[in-house]
Amino acid sequence: MLADEPGATLLCGGTDLMVEVNEGHRRPDRTVMMVNRITELRSWRHDPAAGTVTIGAAVTYSELMREPLASLLPALAEASRTVGSPQIRNAGTLGGNLGTCSPAGDGLPVLAAAGATVTLASASGTRTVDVVDFMLGVKRTDRRAGELIAAVTVPVAAGWQGYAKVGVRNAMVIAVASACLVVDVSQRSVGLALGSVGPTVLRCPQAEAFLAERVDWDSARVDRDALVAFGELAAAASTPITDHRSTAEYRRHAVGVMAERLARRAFDLHEEESR
Ligand SMILES: Cc1cc2nc3c(=O)[nH]c(=O)nc-3n(C[C@H](O)[C@H](O)[C@H](O)COP(=O)(O)OP(=O)(O)OC[C@H]3O[C@@H](n4cnc5c(N)ncnc54)[C@H](O)[C@@H]3O)c2cc1C
Repeated sequence: MLADEPGATLLCGGTDLMVEVNEGHRRPDRTVMMVNRITELRSWRHDPAAGTVTIGAAVTYSELMREPLASLLPALAEASRTVGSPQIRNAGTLGGNLGTCSPAGDGLPVLAAAGATVTLASASGTRTVDVVDFMLGVKRTDRRAGELIAAVTVPVAAGWQGYAKVGVRNAMVIAVASACLVVDVSQRSVGLALGSVGPTVLRCPQAEAFLAERVDWDSARVDRDALVAFGELAAAASTPITDHRSTAEYRRHAVGVMAERLARRAFDLHEEESR
């Protein structure tokens, strides 16, 4: 159907699209295709041999918060718990978060930090893109006309992972700044991604390499100076703007603090440092 109408507007949970329509920012003038009852998009599967979880685009936040998915991808469950209200979490989907591609989308820093890939399907076949390459800018993606976001494949990391979000209150809030840290002890690597501090979600390769180098992987310990420097490198990687929600200075400071705190939760301090 999409091949016949490549410009059709896709509708999943409608929690972004209907707001845009109601506010007059978007007026679909052609066919609207609702995709949230396509069984394949509603399901997820764990592939233990590949060490991945593949999540259909129409899987909702409420589903991402449930076991056993929540234990496989804890940071995604944590980020999902911060999205909107129960009603929004029951309707809103990961595919819709990707389709909108707001720098404040709560699912996106988790996907970026975990090194997820996006599978796009069309009548001519499927293609897979790294999520960081899929997100091109503010509400701009690599999706082509006639393509459907089919699924996201997320590596299951062996190690601690967490999501942090700053907003003007604790619930029903769009992120002023956010950060996700994914540690993989088996790979001796860390992934850090920041939200709401750039035109799209940002990975922080310099900060990641620095922390991976400074962690004592055998004891999972790190010294306090390294944590502080990690936070500073994260802040330096951000490119925030001042808008109606916050100032650039606050956002830069906030991602530095969040990155440091996430790393503090992920690793123990060296004993002499923690005394
Ligand atoms: C009150 C409220 C609170 C909110 N709070 C948060 C929050 O805290 N954090 C947050 O991140 N977001 C929040 N949102 C935004 C929204 O809920 C999320 O972005 C959600 O993930 C969108 O999913 P959806 O299925 O509703 O998308 P839809 O609105 O159906 O679609 C969004 C976009 O993606 C496209 N699309 C949908 N599915 C596909 C597909 N399979 N393939 C290709 N394109 C597709 C659509 O065409 C559209 O452009 C909030 C929204 C509201 C109304």
